[in-house]
Amino acid sequence: MANQQSSHTKNILSSPALLQYIMETSAYPNEHEQLKELRHATMEKYPHTSLMNVPVDEAQLLSIIIKLMNAKNTLEVGVFTGYSLLSTALALPNDAKIVAIDIDREAYEVGLPFIKKAGVDHKIDFVQGDALPFLNDLLDKGKEGTFDFVFVDADKQNYINYHETLIKLVKVGGLIAYDNTLWFGSIAYPDDVPFFDVSEKMAPLLESIRAHTKTLNNYLAKDARIESSLLSVGDGVTLCRRKY
Ligand code: SAH
Ligand code: CA
Repeated sequence: MANQQSSHTKNILSSPALLQYIMETSAYPNEHEQLKELRHATMEKYPHTSLMNVPVDEAQLLSIIIKLMNAKNTLEVGVFTGYSLLSTALALPNDAKIVAIDIDREAYEVGLPFIKKAGVDHKIDFVQGDALPFLNDLLDKGKEGTFDFVFVDADKQNYINYHETLIKLVKVGGLIAYDNTLWFGSIAYPDDVPFFDVSEKMAPLLESIRAHTKTLNNYLAKDARIESSLLSVGDGVTLCRRKY
């Protein structure tokens, strides 16, 4: 139960019973064995931050989308221990490639044994580094318009900067998914209402992400280059399809 609790709390759905119903009826019974193992290993190794892994129901939605798109070349920005990465790797065909970037290799190595056990590590090209210069490098190397699907889940303050590069890297008709765009529901509160009941140390970061996320949501809603949909799954995920 403790395991499931941590997945529940990162979901913005405000009825715990309904969320529990979704997870227990639909999500957990269909979770791949190695995804489950990776999730549990993450909770053990990172008891305070394991909620950074996407919740099971969201990973399953993204998996269906990736399959429906017949995606082959994908990009992940922000890997942590690799729950969304393994889920993506499992959804992709055998000859597909995921370029995945994170500043933190240690967390990735916590998930790597499960990725290997699932037999999908050959699809992954993990890069340790700062995402923005790396993405700009990809553009310089001629990768414009080559990615089918991009999952963005790194430093939220940079999402608009990522967007300006990713909109070029993703092909026309391709999809960029931005994670945590409802930021625990805090984006719906007026600016002068503090939302986070957390330590003084954490509050400035969480509030700054809240402000950036509000700006991002307005920015994406006005961006004529994309068609977008802000979904209330997990902590909010915004799907952006490149139109031209
Ligand atoms: N997508 C993962 C969770 C990612 S958590 C999952 O669902 O399992 C966010 C990650 O972004 C962290 O691992 C952090 O190291 C990484 N990150 C933060 N800032 C970054 C940056 N500037 N460049 C690359 N990675 C970054
Ligand atoms: Ca996330």
